[in-house]
Amino acid sequence: MRTLSHPGAYASHMSADCLFCSIIAGDIPADRVLENDAVVAFRDIAPKADTHVLVVPRTHAPDVAALAATAPGELAAMALAAQEIADAECGGQFKWIFNTGEKAGQTVFHAHGHLLGGDLGGSLV
Ligand code: AMP
Ligand code: ZN
Repeated sequence: MRTLSHPGAYASHMSADCLFCSIIAGDIPADRVLENDAVVAFRDIAPKADTHVLVVPRTHAPDVAALAATAPGELAAMALAAQEIADAECGGQFKWIFNTGEKAGQTVFHAHGHLLGGDLGGSLV
């Protein structure tokens, strides 16, 4: 796992009472698989696939479009991180889902991509 040398430098990007900001800050434990200056990736607490990793930008934004508007470089970094994790865990092949809005199933309003890999047992899309 790669590590970040100065985690405190990102405090200004945090939102109070945000679960994923708390995980990024290390206030709530998570099973981290990758981290760098732009993203933190950790295993979903309720996995839906052999590999189910949440790829999360360090900057707080409520959804992926808001992230694209405010920190597009972090969105690009999320894609690179997802590929790096998939290369290590599931032959480089994966599904990447961004739930956006409650009706789409979003429950944590800090942008994140679900990296799903392994035997996915068919495909919704
Ligand atoms: P979403 O429903 O798209 O907002 O995704 C939120 C995801 O966060 C769900 O798949 C949850 O299982 C996951 N989750 C909630 N709390 C934690 C936690 N403490 N550590 C890891 N994953 C979590
Ligand atoms: Zn947040």
